[in-house]
Amino acid sequence: MPIDFDLTAEQRKTKDVAREFAREVLRPVADRADALPDPQDAFRAMRPVYEQAAALGFTSMFLPAEYGGGGASTVDFLVAIEELCAVDPGFPTVLLVNGLALMPLLRYGTDAQRERWIPRAATDVRGDFLAGWVVSERGGTANFDHPSPQAGIQLVADHDRARGEYVLHGEKHWPCNAGGWDLEGADVNLCVVRTDRRAGGKEALSAILVERGTPGVSYTVIDKMAHRTCQNVTMTFRGARVPEENLLAPGDGDLLVNRNFTWSAPIAAIAAVAVARAAYDFALKWARTYTGGGAGPIIQHQAVGHLLSEVAAKIEAGRYLCWKAAHHLDASGGEGHALGAMSKTFCGDLMQGVVFDCMRIVGVNALDRKFPMARYYRESMVFPLYDAGNLAMQRRRAWGVMADPAFSPDTFVDGDPMVFTKSMEGYGVISEIG
Ligand SMILES: Cc1cc2nc3c(=O)[nH]c(=O)nc-3n(C[C@H](O)[C@H](O)[C@H](O)COP(=O)(O)OP(=O)(O)OC[C@H]3O[C@@H](n4cnc5c(N)ncnc54)[C@H](O)[C@@H]3O)c2cc1C
Repeated sequence: MPIDFDLTAEQRKTKDVAREFAREVLRPVADRADALPDPQDAFRAMRPVYEQAAALGFTSMFLPAEYGGGGASTVDFLVAIEELCAVDPGFPTVLLVNGLALMPLLRYGTDAQRERWIPRAATDVRGDFLAGWVVSERGGTANFDHPSPQAGIQLVADHDRARGEYVLHGEKHWPCNAGGWDLEGADVNLCVVRTDRRAGGKEALSAILVERGTPGVSYTVIDKMAHRTCQNVTMTFRGARVPEENLLAPGDGDLLVNRNFTWSAPIAAIAAVAVARAAYDFALKWARTYTGGGAGPIIQHQAVGHLLSEVAAKIEAGRYLCWKAAHHLDASGGEGHALGAMSKTFCGDLMQGVVFDCMRIVGVNALDRKFPMARYYRESMVFPLYDAGNLAMQRRRAWGVMADPAFSPDTFVDGDPMVFTKSMEGYGVISEIG
């Protein structure tokens, strides 16, 4: 079998439909929403777009067909996400986070949890279902699996056995979608919690489903400089009581976090590629037509031509790494942790520089806000920082896999399965509490 980078007819159709939706439906609303001063207004303005995205199947395409979802592969999802993100990377983050909240149910959930939530998300005819993935904390998330009970995840869920409930105290900072369209909560929030106050991160963490309307939970919106079309909140828990049947992955919350950020990594990586692609598209057209006061278009200057060819090469290389990481994930039942992480760190870090190179090609006019370049630059800042920041959580995971004696430089070329284990966690954590 040859190595085949061609899109199938079905993937080409997905790409075309996503591109048309992005340009015709997403762009006008996202451009308006991005300029709104209030972040919750910006998010709410996206609701009609979300409804149309749901009607086209973009909000559920990654969910399994047996639960009513589209049954698309991760590679297929990447094809759609690239088109949406090339227009606005904030809105597709809403879809990505729905996935981050729901995908763990497939591996760690009970039958009842899966049957309750996945079909509801997959068959959301009103186009308003939201799920939140609630991990990050104000004190920091990079060391979420720290061996000390005093460090890492600090949202505590104490078991009240007599009442068959968990009682949640603490705060999360940055979760996307979690506040819902009306700041009364997403339909469901999958929260990573500490269920053991005395153990370290490899034993003490679990996840729990907190449903909309749970008393004792409140939300405040974060006003961020980019990705303004998705919502991020501070989520506060003051004695919130959650039925014990909503618990999943008891003692394995650390593995759940790592696996989840492996699934999202190539998706976040292709988002970075998409924004760079949009900047490249603008810069190429500009270079072919703008003269800079000279006799011909600036693309005739070697400096511009060379830089454009470097930009194009980085984008192509980034895209194929994302496809490879997603393909490996699909072929290995969600494993491929180092490759997923590497696609995110490589593309997230590199594409931010690619966008700036495109600005250098355009020249000073790149700073004029009537052109899209300034927005691309702003949006590109997010990619190294979000979805498990590149410097810490993503690289720590790749590092842990590579330190395992079973890993070899051929692992991904040969498509070998490499199961992620707790022994790969904890790399780069300074464990002594001063
Ligand atoms: C648009 C957007 C959407 C988001 N969506 C969600 C969401 O849905 N759910 C959610 O829970 N969060 C979400 N977040 C938050 C985000 O994904 C994480 O909190 C973030 O990636 C962690 O960032 P950090 O590494 O900077 O964390 P911090 O813990 O704040 O780290 C701060 C700095 O310290 C460094 N550092 C600390 N310890 C180490 C170490 N051991 N090794 C190396 N470096 C270290 C980090 O590299 C970083 O430079 C979102 C953020 C944004 C912007």
